[in-house]
Amino acid sequence: MPITITVASGKGGTGKTLVATSLALSLPEEVQFLDCDVEAPNSHIFLNPQWEEEFPTGLVVPRVNESVCTACGECNRVCEFKAIVVIVDKVLVFDELCHGCGACSYICPVDAISEIEKPIGIIRRGTGVNGIIFLQGLLNIGEPMATPIIRRLKREAIKDAMVTLRDAPPGTSCPVIESVEGSDFTILVTEPTPFGLNDLKLSVGVCRELNVPMGVIINRADAGDDRVQAYCKEENIPILMEIPLLREVAEGYAKGVPLVDILPEYRDKFQELFENIQREVRHGRG
Ligand code: SF4
Ligand code: SF4
Repeated sequence: MPITITVASGKGGTGKTLVATSLALSLPEEVQFLDCDVEAPNSHIFLNPQWEEEFPTGLVVPRVNESVCTACGECNRVCEFKAIVVIVDKVLVFDELCHGCGACSYICPVDAISEIEKPIGIIRRGTGVNGIIFLQGLLNIGEPMATPIIRRLKREAIKDAMVTLRDAPPGTSCPVIESVEGSDFTILVTEPTPFGLNDLKLSVGVCRELNVPMGVIINRADAGDDRVQAYCKEENIPILMEIPLLREVAEGYAKGVPLVDILPEYRDKFQELFENIQREVRHGRG
């Protein structure tokens, strides 16, 4: 049964990539790994892919043919993002605000709007350790729109791969929503601190909004209080694993060594965790 699991966290530095890469390395199944953290991808450091392909990707933005435009203002009215504005008889397009939705060109009564693809980043494909199929999106520096490149990354993924893992960007904004959307299960990585709990609550909100089942991994589990556990119990969210704060893990991570290479006993733990998720997803699919 093909399954897609997203690993997310409400904020950076909680161990999301540590978990995602170790899970990928622990599974005997064919794994496809999507690094959706397109502003700062770093999973490749742990999975060491040999790049086989690289191609640009872009965002479709409008261009107005002034000789046809009647300055009717319809495009201005339909654009939710204020990315196309009519001032007197001139139409201005602000590419950096445009989401590429195409509504303006659709609505234009005189077909004055065409579309061009503006490059915003690249997609890379390669093969990592253990034959992991690895895809990475890389947003150009200064580009504000991460979501279109994540959407493209998802489109480029092999549809019938047995296991697809997505390493989401940190936070709870649009790029995270795009990463979580369409997955069968989301692992939320957090830490037992007030900040960790606050960000976890926001991430839980995203999963519930998208109707994606979830479970929690507490990283540095012995370095805080038990409020995350209490919250998960109250909200009926399973705690899938607790990873203690260990100096050798932190040191290894800083050098690009995956958790499961430092503590090989975690391979079995991640495999068991995966089987539990698989059961839950199967149960949910009926
Ligand atoms: S909808 Fe078309 S005709 Fe109207 S202002 Fe926009 S570009 Fe011009
Ligand atoms: S494509 Fe969408 S976001 Fe971009 S200018 Fe047109 S309506 Fe606005």
